[in-house]
Amino acid sequence: MPGETTVLLVESAGIAGARQWHRQRLHVVLAAMRRLAEQLRGEGFDVDLRHAATLAEGVRAHVAERAPGAVCVAEPTSWDARRTVERLGCKVLRDDRFLCHYEEFAAWARDRPSLRLGDFYRAQRRRHGYLMDGDRPAGGRWSLDDENRRPPPRDPIDWPRPPVVPLDELDREVLAGVPPSAFGDDPTGVWPTTRGHALALLDHVVEEVLPGFGPYEDAMLAGEWRLRHTLLSSSLNLGLLHPREVCGRVEEAYRSGAVPLASAEGLLRQVLGWREYVWGVYWLWMPAYRASNELRARRPLPPVLTGAPTEMRCVAAAVDGVRARAYAHHIQRLMVLGNLCLLAGVRPRELVEWMWGSFVDGAEWVMLPNVVGMALHADGGRMASKPYAAGGNYVDRMSDYCGSCAFDPRARVGDDACPFTSLYWDFLARHRERFERSHRVALQVRGLDRLRDLDAVRERARTVLDRLDRGAL
Ligand code: SF4
Repeated sequence: MPGETTVLLVESAGIAGARQWHRQRLHVVLAAMRRLAEQLRGEGFDVDLRHAATLAEGVRAHVAERAPGAVCVAEPTSWDARRTVERLGCKVLRDDRFLCHYEEFAAWARDRPSLRLGDFYRAQRRRHGYLMDGDRPAGGRWSLDDENRRPPPRDPIDWPRPPVVPLDELDREVLAGVPPSAFGDDPTGVWPTTRGHALALLDHVVEEVLPGFGPYEDAMLAGEWRLRHTLLSSSLNLGLLHPREVCGRVEEAYRSGAVPLASAEGLLRQVLGWREYVWGVYWLWMPAYRASNELRARRPLPPVLTGAPTEMRCVAAAVDGVRARAYAHHIQRLMVLGNLCLLAGVRPRELVEWMWGSFVDGAEWVMLPNVVGMALHADGGRMASKPYAAGGNYVDRMSDYCGSCAFDPRARVGDDACPFTSLYWDFLARHRERFERSHRVALQVRGLDRLRDLDAVRERARTVLDRLDRGAL
């Protein structure tokens, strides 16, 4: 209560220096924290916004100076921070920022032979009642994903533009204190650092994005970074929005007739399904999950992800977007950046660290399952029953990148062969024994038998990998 409670906020230099962060990632966290401190002071709270070498030192220094009766902390969102606050003797308060607490997820997961997203999503729909007609899903189907995979439109579209809040003195102060090791462009005011901006973004999503959200969810366009992605993830992950608000607005928009079911269901699956599932999996399988590397990937992070130039247009577009906005949408993350690292055999921990530091919505709980379980199949299929491996044809179908690329998505040998296409066949050949036993991948693996030029393809793949390692692809 104001007047009775002191709010302690710790800016930890240790976390700021723990990895190479994107400037915009550090900015949203620090600016949101300082604005929360201002807001709480305005509401009459005593706020101790403390700079310290580590979270633990910040708490210890606060206790030494203020001698509080108790230090209560909301459950941290990372395994390491949870251990830290427990060691410090803080009273940990149950987290209510998700619709499924991780203990509830663990109870759901108990005794299940596999933890499939679809099963969890249906349980979440039933439990919370979103897009339900009695005990049946609205429209009769749980997932309308098959209606949401259209390739990019041929005709130009006036894509919705999110609300932008100009930077102010507080933002400039935060940016002046960002460590020199941070990379990327300065923020432009797209990513909310206040509750008010986050609510304005949610209004924009419901009114302008959601009516056409579904069909182009998986499309990629060279000249358009947002398409109809909601950009809500950083606000949700910072706690500026609650998933209940987002799901409630989706429900209202569908029931009012303003939004088609396929779009409403598509966003609900992301927020009520996937996001909560990833959160539950993280806590269920940590800390051992961090070390997962079932495909024995040994390659370091390709230099192209950290600034080396590339002629691969799809990769260049995704990496340029990360540098400019600390953002790439989920298909760029999974089917371009993740796919490249899967096919090349990049060490999972290195991609987790890079994505964690590079994206505005990055956090270990987000990136670990998304990289280890989804993109790199490094958990051997505990999370996803098949690897999301694809050649250039997939990118060609779902984007406008390939037409002006130096490589040919259909070619698998020769100097102009698309790196994805050569690496795709090499990946299947490398892991043939493992994947031919999997009914979800066996058909793809049998495709190897139709390749008369497999030796040449694998030779081309070796060249591609060598150039990838040298940052010369
Ligand atoms: Fe990417 Fe290959 Fe298409 Fe070039 S040809 S844009 S490398 S998928």
